[in-house]
Amino acid sequence: MVKARILVVEDEHDIRTVLMDQLRLDGFDTVGASTGKEVLENFKSLTPDLIILDLKLPDIDGLMVCQEIRKHSDIPIIIVSARDSLPDKIRGLEVGADDYVTKPFEYLELEARIRACLRRHQVTSGMTDPIDLGNLKIYRQKRMIEVNGKGVKLTKKEFELLNLFLENRGKVLSREFLSSHLWHNKEVYPWSRALDVHVRRLRKKIEPDPAHPKYILTHAGVGYRFAAEDEG
Ligand code: CA
Repeated sequence: MVKARILVVEDEHDIRTVLMDQLRLDGFDTVGASTGKEVLENFKSLTPDLIILDLKLPDIDGLMVCQEIRKHSDIPIIIVSARDSLPDKIRGLEVGADDYVTKPFEYLELEARIRACLRRHQVTSGMTDPIDLGNLKIYRQKRMIEVNGKGVKLTKKEFELLNLFLENRGKVLSREFLSSHLWHNKEVYPWSRALDVHVRRLRKKIEPDPAHPKYILTHAGVGYRFAAEDEG
């Protein structure tokens, strides 16, 4: 069995080594980094499957590191930070982190989130490819879309959101359902603004007229629905 490799980015030596030891005991392969520069320079050669990212690093802010990685990789990233305010969390998710855990954290919770992230990351395959909606084509294996024959880039979260909609075409999906699937977090309320931000961005990319959406329809007070095949 191939072990998932976790890259632990943390400048505090003790926290890093304890966490890496614990992860190894739980069957993960681990690599560590203590600066942002180290991560960005060695990211490719370290070949991690998931990144645990501290925000307060001695050189580059963790949010910047996250943003940089997202430019060329959709690897799962879990931010672990002492910054526990709502704007910090939303910002973290907006720059592309998959999850946000505040310090001090319970190891078991972090481990559960790591496993959930890895699982979700592997699930987005299957179904026919591409899904052809006329002027919108979705290649789920390649994680890319074409709008009117032109390739359009989606962020990891936008793609996951689109996937959720496609797997539930025609069904009204509640905000809670969408948020909890996208961020695997039971405290749904704090993420609700992040959900709207992502829906807005996705609409901008796939809707011929984002002001009058034909794919992603709003159900006021409930959530959103992706138009069924025989609609529009
Ligand atoms: Ca730190």
